[in-house]
Amino acid sequence: MSKSKSSETVKVVVRCRPMNEKERDAKFGRVVAVDVKLGQILVRNPKEASSSDHPKVFTFDSVYDWNSKQIDLYDETFRPLVDSVLFGFNGTIFAYGQTGTGKTYTMEGVRNDIERRGVIPNSFEHIFTHISRSQNQQYLVRASYLEIYQEEIKDLLSKDQTRRLELRERPDTGVYVKDLSSFVTKSVREIEHVMNVGNQNRSVGATNMNEHSSRSHAIFVITVECSELDDDGENHIRVGKLNLVDLAGSERQTKTGAQGERLKEATKINLSLSALGNVISALVDGRSSHIPYRDSKLTRLLQDSLGGNARTVMVANIGPASYNVEETLTTLRYSNRAKNIKNKPRINEDPKDALLREFQEEIARLKEQLEKRSGKKKKRRQRKRAGEGSDGEDLEDGETEDDDEEGDDKGDWREQQEKLERERKAIMEDHSLVAEEKVLLLKEKEKKMEDLKKERDAGEMLAAKVKAMESKLLVGGKNIVDHTNEQQKMLEMRRQEIAEQKRREREMQQQMDSRDEETLELKETYSSLQQEVDIKTKKLKKLFAKLQAVKAEIHDIQEAHINERQELEQTQNELTRDLKLKHLIIENFIPLEEKNKIVNRAYLDEEDEYWKTRPITRIEDDHQMMSRPLSAVGYRRPLSHHAHTAMMMRPDMRYKAENIMVLDMDLPARTTKEYQEPVIAPKVAAALESALRDEDEIQVDASGFHSSLGSTLPTGASLKKPKSGRPRTGRKSSTPTSPFSPSSPGSPLYPQSRGLVPK
Ligand code: ADP
Ligand code: MG
Repeated sequence: MSKSKSSETVKVVVRCRPMNEKERDAKFGRVVAVDVKLGQILVRNPKEASSSDHPKVFTFDSVYDWNSKQIDLYDETFRPLVDSVLFGFNGTIFAYGQTGTGKTYTMEGVRNDIERRGVIPNSFEHIFTHISRSQNQQYLVRASYLEIYQEEIKDLLSKDQTRRLELRERPDTGVYVKDLSSFVTKSVREIEHVMNVGNQNRSVGATNMNEHSSRSHAIFVITVECSELDDDGENHIRVGKLNLVDLAGSERQTKTGAQGERLKEATKINLSLSALGNVISALVDGRSSHIPYRDSKLTRLLQDSLGGNARTVMVANIGPASYNVEETLTTLRYSNRAKNIKNKPRINEDPKDALLREFQEEIARLKEQLEKRSGKKKKRRQRKRAGEGSDGEDLEDGETEDDDEEGDDKGDWREQQEKLERERKAIMEDHSLVAEEKVLLLKEKEKKMEDLKKERDAGEMLAAKVKAMESKLLVGGKNIVDHTNEQQKMLEMRRQEIAEQKRREREMQQQMDSRDEETLELKETYSSLQQEVDIKTKKLKKLFAKLQAVKAEIHDIQEAHINERQELEQTQNELTRDLKLKHLIIENFIPLEEKNKIVNRAYLDEEDEYWKTRPITRIEDDHQMMSRPLSAVGYRRPLSHHAHTAMMMRPDMRYKAENIMVLDMDLPARTTKEYQEPVIAPKVAAALESALRDEDEIQVDASGFHSSLGSTLPTGASLKKPKSGRPRTGRKSSTPTSPFSPSSPGSPLYPQSRGLVPK
């Protein structure tokens, strides 16, 4: 490890998971081949006829097939990175890939299985083992755990899981999450506990864990601070920060059904991931001067890991089955680009925000306080001893002094207490004192005793605090002579050596391959023309195949670009439509005045790059707004000065000081009218009259019946107006008119029809 400030590229490794049961049952073909020796992934696309002869080839720093063990990955790829974190570099591990390809398996793995646990638990073990083996160094290890979901940051270790955190930036330390909790951990067990709590919180908020985890980014952060005495006798602190990032699934969101989502949410879901892609593109491009870190929370937070002060490893996870081939190719292309990102890692020495420094200073301060206390006591004791005639010899050793001190402290305290108790008893028994005096004296003694106790408690608390703080600072060397430990160390070193060798072999192989093609030609001498033709034809064929592969790749990439572009355009169209709708609503339904008010209140928060609205106040005289309103005196209730003057100026109910309102009775307007007889048209009145006439009032002249049957009313019929306007019913009549009335013997007589319309 060098302290060099030279740049290095992001390391990209690819891991292909085994076929799962479902895939095996459905008999999906395997389209991925892994050449571990050469560090190559070969993919056959079953949709392309030529691909069986010419698979697509991608070369990476190292590749792992379905048989790879977690520990192999760790030793070869992650251990060097964590080592550099222990040395004061920043380090980041990204797990990238489609959902279900083993990102979480690689990062976390199976928790309680040593064989199958992932990078995070393995790094715990690594870090604390390293510390226990260290010498003359002090360490402070702390952990944080956060999640980004739909561009909101959640602290997975906080009690309040509904709270969302903000990103802040400081010129000296860069971007950080405000109020993110972090826990100082002293052992593997403690930091594992932190991880478990975070994982539990992660799943608690989610209704569908699978969907949630495939759409959110989880970042586990371990900060290791190390203080060491330099050759020049100065204390230096190095701070390494390790970000362990389990990214959201890289698949296109439509595949997992984002259609049901509201557009806004859907566009937010993978914003961080697409921003990550854009940042990588911009970094690799070399032409763009602007790197869009600010486009998402993830890229802002991990800005250093991409093109900055950090060592970065990206693990691209892929699946082997044929139905995933498109996603697999996309993942491989994506990570292939990331290989070209250049970082500039450096050791973070004596940063301003080192917690270890604060701890050390606080401990020193507390110790000084403690010393002052014991100093006081010592003086007291010495005085006493001098009085007793002892010569108060000096104590030689720090250790024994401490022990002695403590023992003495206790003895001293007990002595004083006993003395006070004795005095108290003496007062009680002293009959020469008046009762009141006794009480007073007793009280005084009691107070003294209490003070004594308080002081002692405070001292004890101080000591406990110092102890607690010191226990958090980890020092090594406790079991260095442990035999098994030594053996283990050897084993680890061997493993590391092997891993290193493998890596070198692979690199050499890769180099040789590429050189072969270039140099062979130069050295070769041909014995005959025919041989030359043969060899050159062979070479030509080889090169032609290569050319075809590159052309196909270009074609693929172009197609992918077109697809992506179309998708972006579609999103843009939808967003534009949304915006237009909102404009329409504003223009047509919101009064211009209200709109202007809101526009005036709106401002852009530079920090968050978010539009916000100022609180409702009078904006034009801001200075007045800033000062508290004056209070008017002489009222029973608090009343502002403004209200007071407003009350004087106009009788406005709003500014009545008391809850008294003088109100006149306010009678409601009448809604009814006097009754008026209805005015009926003469024609209707006549008809009504004839219809409502009582039957007994009808006089029938039977004599003229035969001749005047069809004629009008009989002449003798007197018209009688009903007394009231109420219609009378015929039933009321006392004598029913029978067709066989005795007054009309012989033929039956029928009364005239009582129809409403006169005939
Ligand atoms: P992701 O986090 O990418 O969505 P997971 O890590 O949850 O995917 O993996 C999906 C499933 O595949 C899990 O059941 C996991 O145990 C299994 N798996 C993934 N990678 C491997 C591997 N290398 N070896 C064995 N099983 C694996
Ligand atoms: Mg996962």
